[in-house]
Amino acid sequence: MRTMAVFAEYIWMDGHRPTQKLRCKTKILPLDAVGSLEDLPEWGFDGSSTMQADGHSSDCMLRPVSYFHDPIRGGPHVLVMCEVFNADGTVHPSNTRAKLRAIAEKAAGEECWFGIEQEYTMFRGMQPLGWPENGFPAPQGPYYCGIGADEVFGRDLVEAHLAACIEAGLAISGINAEVMPGQWEFQVGPVGPLEVSDQLWVARWLLYRVGEEFGINATLHPKPVKGDWNGAGAHTNFSTKAMRSEGGIKVIEEACEKLGKAHKKHIGGYGAHNTERLTGLHETCSIDEFRYGVSDRGASIRIPLATAQAGKGYLEDRRPAANMDPYVVTRLMIETICLDAPGDKALETVQVRA
Ligand code: ADP
Ligand code: MN
Ligand code: MN
Ligand code: MN
Repeated sequence: MRTMAVFAEYIWMDGHRPTQKLRCKTKILPLDAVGSLEDLPEWGFDGSSTMQADGHSSDCMLRPVSYFHDPIRGGPHVLVMCEVFNADGTVHPSNTRAKLRAIAEKAAGEECWFGIEQEYTMFRGMQPLGWPENGFPAPQGPYYCGIGADEVFGRDLVEAHLAACIEAGLAISGINAEVMPGQWEFQVGPVGPLEVSDQLWVARWLLYRVGEEFGINATLHPKPVKGDWNGAGAHTNFSTKAMRSEGGIKVIEEACEKLGKAHKKHIGGYGAHNTERLTGLHETCSIDEFRYGVSDRGASIRIPLATAQAGKGYLEDRRPAANMDPYVVTRLMIETICLDAPGDKALETVQVRA
């Protein structure tokens, strides 16, 4: 878009419960004004309209924390991920990123990497994309990584979203059609905890924004269709420098043991409505159980075969739901695995959303 100004799209998480949603608004800045993060000013918004403040004292503050090329508007325009603060400068309770900042700093020496697989389901109106007006499509089987107009729905949106993510500079590492028709996945990473989380939120924003052009909305609900249909997760792949080095498999197994002791704490922060998804069916482990194993897609934690064979690599936490907050999930994993934080009890700090 040709313009005499920079359009900076400020993006933040609101106070919606049980799952926070994205909000955004555009700030006009002088052309050539944005050369680094410091050039993006703080900005206010009406917190009473986003479930973040009362009407009589409604001002909240947006502080830019990372920014990307805007692939929608193009040109000099930017997408700006923000943290939310109260008017007095204190961290807003909905600001889950602030807690991750502190924990990531403590564990910096471990060189934690995360790769997140974001599953999502496309809807047109009330109907998953490609589903008949009445009734159901043919049972699951051919759709995962499928090809052909009878098996794959929404590819034009998926391709447009992928191109937008790459143009924005996000560390997208792949996409695939999922087990349920109308369901897809993209992967971000592996990068550090703050990077993967900021980028996942921006990639979600782009998914919704590109979807507007197609009249399709993506949902991150972990069980968008009840019954014998796969749910939607956000498998979180994790490694430290020690796990990636010679003998790393031992460190990975120790991490699995620690995760087992903190199972309830993690489930509490892994997304709302996850009970509907973690049933023990459809490539999940029951929410009431904890198991880990090599190549096991029915376990809570899977050690990829290539990792077991190489004796080093990473682990996959399969429990997080598609609607999880990556600032919370990456923080919990670092706390449990790297900082030996207290185990099996529901911590008050787990999440602003129940
Ligand atoms: P799956 O077989 O579970 O569907 P995917 O290929 O969809 O696996 O996703 C694997 C993820 O693991 C990718 O997001 C990738 O970035 C991530 N990953 C690869 N190596 C590492 C590593 N060493 N540490 C953390 N994440 C990693
Ligand atoms: Mn995957
Ligand atoms: Mn998947
Ligand atoms: Mn996976």
